[in-house]
Amino acid sequence: MGDDTVKYLLPENRIPRAWYNVMADLPEPMAPVLHPGTGRPVGPDDLAPLFPMACIAQEMATEREIEIPEPVREIYKQWRPSPLYRARRLEKALDTPARIYYKYEGVSPSGSHKPNTAVAQAFYNKEEGVKRLTTETGAGQWGSSLAFAGHIFGLEVDVYMVKVSYVQKPYRRALMETYGARCVPSPSTETAAGRAILEADPDSNGALGIAISEAVEMAAQRDDTRYSLGSVLNHVLLHQTVTGLEALEQMDMAGDQPDVVIGCAGGGSNFAGLASPFVGRKIAGQMSPRIVAVEPAACPTLTRGRFAYDFGDTAHLTPLVKMHTLGASFMPPGFHAGGLRYHGMGPIVSHLLHLGLIEAVSHHQLGCFEAGVLFARAEGIVPAPESTHAVKETVDEALRCKAEGRSRAILFNLSGHGHFDMQAYTDFFDGRLQDRDYDQTALDRSLAALPDVAAAE
Ligand SMILES: *Cc1c(COP(=O)(O)O)cnc(C)c1O
Repeated sequence: MGDDTVKYLLPENRIPRAWYNVMADLPEPMAPVLHPGTGRPVGPDDLAPLFPMACIAQEMATEREIEIPEPVREIYKQWRPSPLYRARRLEKALDTPARIYYKYEGVSPSGSHKPNTAVAQAFYNKEEGVKRLTTETGAGQWGSSLAFAGHIFGLEVDVYMVKVSYVQKPYRRALMETYGARCVPSPSTETAAGRAILEADPDSNGALGIAISEAVEMAAQRDDTRYSLGSVLNHVLLHQTVTGLEALEQMDMAGDQPDVVIGCAGGGSNFAGLASPFVGRKIAGQMSPRIVAVEPAACPTLTRGRFAYDFGDTAHLTPLVKMHTLGASFMPPGFHAGGLRYHGMGPIVSHLLHLGLIEAVSHHQLGCFEAGVLFARAEGIVPAPESTHAVKETVDEALRCKAEGRSRAILFNLSGHGHFDMQAYTDFFDGRLQDRDYDQTALDRSLAALPDVAAAE
């Protein structure tokens, strides 16, 4: 490959045939998921009202490679393998000796990495005779991805969308409706969980944890309906590893290896998707990159939260999982990266941090947007507000390389484009964005309310 190569493309037949399950290689097993009533580890039957059996099996799988079904690979072919770019113009703009690479997931139909799992989940549900999927969405990336995938497999899709986003992001809602989904502002009067929230606070803006409660409640009520989650869970992170597996091959094509791997982390799926195959190589002693998850300072789950058992939702309908959490009742202050506002973090990502195999940092949104604009002007792609967190850490790392006079290879996941989030950029240019820290008192209150199993540890 010449010095000017900026794009590494794999042919269609190089879409991986299996996802990589990092749980198979962990030096210490993960804590079991617990039933909230009995406090005992859950079995497949406990989860069957919510998820298809194939996903439940993947949630607990111990084999290293899990085959990607052929119909899923067929749909992946529309945009996969996704390109890996060398950011030569960004390097020049930063005047850095660093070699910057990014895996671009914004080429999917809905503009982010999320269809990688939405298509797989819709496929397994269809296979098992499910007719309808319920889900939640914050900024709308996940809702639109599941709406797209659900329609391909002839499934009805009901999306509970956090009310503040429903109002602020009419185009994401329009996209979901274009794909044929029903989009309901949450909290809604359709569920007991929603009605309880509205009774306490008729003006509630909603939160991801509330919307999850609504979607779970609706799925649990009907035999032909299952629930679908766009991040956090092991099977979701598994499906995303298609990006990291492709990136391994593309870095080979580039004749390079990353010294640093970076991803933004909301629930952890795009980060773990890119990073897990590199974590696997690290555990096997084949390479030793630093692997960095980047989160917003306003919702600092990994850097300030507790590694403890918690519920996934506000109404405490989900099983208990051990993860980094700010507490299920935590309400992050307003900021623009809607996809990074969840109170918890994927148990796999939390466990990898606990084992010291990855690191975590947080950044404020103004610095992230500044980096996002710099990136857009250099590379032409406008990053999603979530992805700007990975861009910010990449820029900082490239500047550290410059200060040290050392070249390192940096690989980051550009998890999506920001075309539906241009209001955030407008607000940034107009000086309307502020850096907000989480409120320590509210966080202490939220952590004090963690379920008892946490106290027992
Ligand atoms: C949803 C979303 C995220 C955050 O979710 P993860 O599961 O942490 O990846 C990040 N980037 C984009 C573009 C998203 O849509």
